[in-house]
Amino acid sequence: MSNLPSEPEFEQAYKELVSTLEHSSLFKKNPEYKTALKIVSIPERVIQFRVVWEDDKGQPQVNRGYRVQFNSALGPYKGGLRFHPTVNLSILKFLGFEQVFKNALTGLNIGGGKGGADFDPKGKSDNEIRKFCVSFMRELSKHIGADTDVPAGDIGVSPREIGWLFGAYRAQKNKWEGVLTGKGGSWGGSLIRPEATGFGLVYYVNHMIAYANQGSFKGKTVAISGSGNVAQYAALKAIELGATVVSLSDSKGSLVATDGAHFTPDDVYTIAALKVKRKALTDFEGGKYKYIEGARPWTHVKVDIALPCATQNEVSKEEAEALIKSGARFIAEGSNMGCTQEAIDVFEANRKSEKDKAIWYAPGKAANAGGVAVSGLEMAQNSQRISWTSEEVDEKLKGIMEAAFKNGLETAKKYVEGKDGEFPSLVAGSNIAGFVKVAAAM
Ligand code: GLU
Repeated sequence: MSNLPSEPEFEQAYKELVSTLEHSSLFKKNPEYKTALKIVSIPERVIQFRVVWEDDKGQPQVNRGYRVQFNSALGPYKGGLRFHPTVNLSILKFLGFEQVFKNALTGLNIGGGKGGADFDPKGKSDNEIRKFCVSFMRELSKHIGADTDVPAGDIGVSPREIGWLFGAYRAQKNKWEGVLTGKGGSWGGSLIRPEATGFGLVYYVNHMIAYANQGSFKGKTVAISGSGNVAQYAALKAIELGATVVSLSDSKGSLVATDGAHFTPDDVYTIAALKVKRKALTDFEGGKYKYIEGARPWTHVKVDIALPCATQNEVSKEEAEALIKSGARFIAEGSNMGCTQEAIDVFEANRKSEKDKAIWYAPGKAANAGGVAVSGLEMAQNSQRISWTSEEVDEKLKGIMEAAFKNGLETAKKYVEGKDGEFPSLVAGSNIAGFVKVAAAM
């Protein structure tokens, strides 16, 4: 691929998938899947566009907008929109690629895609963000639709932005359709969608803990990074199940509970309210917490469970080693590609140690699939013009997370050689299970 520009994040995600497929018996058993791999690694379509919008001074501003329509073998392209200054084609291709297999693991009929813009909502007024959303949708609306491509939120795109984007689509197309998910409850959104990624992550990890005969979340200590939607609801569910949450973080540093203290649900709500006002974690007032500037939580905590819930590559090799040294046993990504390849290698190497010390790592494409799964359920409700109760959606989410866990586990047992007693590789199992489903459909 030497004639193509370098795409480090996409290449990392691609190599991570391919290395697990190649180390399994998959290609020996099904040689035709080698061709499927070549095909699936190229997006069906990439749309790039200019977004011109007007700032509060009446001046024109410009950003780059994208939608990567990666694979539609299983259903309409489905995946979030990210508004962040770091957004580029490499990042969106990595996210779209992960999304294809993640969506396959939900068991729902949804393909994979991702989009966004290098627009930085930080420091912008509400009015400017709204204007940006309307301009962004002016072009995006030409390429999406309820049966074509259904975007949702991601970093920088919350239900508020979804509202502005949805309103712009409805006005431009003169029709109401379930073209975006993560909508508000009163205008077509699904109950439990805001909670789904964080709750689903905790449901998934609960299956890991139970399989390892280590009880449940009750009595366990948990480190979480991030303080956005995924981190907030993962923290709330872990606390509800009896765990102690000792850290949260933002892009500038980590808030770590000291002296046996831990986050309460009220702390999480207060932090959520700060985030809505786009304030930093340093504005959180609570004597029991230490704010460690410029650091992620991993080297500052002693926990049983680590849940990276901020962004990609937020756990390095050294941090993975520090986590293991301090006694962490379960690591699961609420973020997409939260761990570097070197960190995954550290966790996977320790999956093979003695049973009472073994480490178990779950990749985001399985462990954080709850968000897009409930997006899929939102699409189903919109198509039927009905709304399910919270209990109904939560039950379905629990079922999907259990199935995703078991699918990864059983697929690993089938395709990856393992020693008696060691944990099956959830990263290999989930990659193979997602890939096989998409390859067969193609
Ligand atoms: N952005 C989320 C993800 O990474 C959700 C996507 C969706 O709901 O379509 O899976």
